Amino acid sequence: MKGLLRALIPPAPCLHCHLPQPEHLWLCEGCRATLAPDGGTATTLTGGLNVESAFFYGGACSALIPYAKDPVEPPLYAWLVAQAAELPNGSALVPVPTHWRRRIERGGCHTTALARALSAHLDLPVVHALERSHLAPKQSQQDRETRRQVRPEHFRCRDLELPPGKVLLIDDVLTTGATLSAAARALLQTHALDDLGAWVLARRPASNEGFGLAKR
Ligand SMILES: [Zn+2]
Repeated sequence: MKGLLRALIPPAPCLHCHLPQPEHLWLCEGCRATLAPDGGTATTLTGGLNVESAFFYGGACSALIPYAKDPVEPPLYAWLVAQAAELPNGSALVPVPTHWRRRIERGGCHTTALARALSAHLDLPVVHALERSHLAPKQSQQDRETRRQVRPEHFRCRDLELPPGKVLLIDDVLTTGATLSAAARALLQTHALDDLGAWVLARRPASNEGFGLAKR
């Protein structure tokens, strides 16, 4: 039966190089090797938020991450999290929220899918402590200046309790850091937290160049 199914379903191409693969993997072996780990050091945003990232945004990451986001592909987030060399420590995961219109367009919330994938490894609760109250243009349609205009008032805090310890904001990509900084400030306005950090799947190499970010 399994052999019949394999014969009927054509091999999925590698999402990065598009070459046909004998197995239904996201990437071929060669492209998998281009996933560049970015563990061990954090990027500190203006305001002091430390952001840990699993990968550099480049190579196969630059194909997989947009693919996972729209429409939302939870199994791909689970696979990417499983490839990370290091995962963060914390007490709860708070996805950087997506506006409801984007969730409808994408068939779900990509940061929630990512946080759930991380939660499965770390056994931490996913707490939807933030809502997005402002519909921003799609990130891919924004220039850097527009991305930096994300403000704390673009988020609304929900009256949910967060556990003691280090709460982690979860996002897919760190670019200018503006979204994470604004989300952090919104969360801290209504929650007295012991510690707040952030974790992203991938950091764009330019994210620490001249945008108020400093690599520790
Ligand atoms: Zn490939």
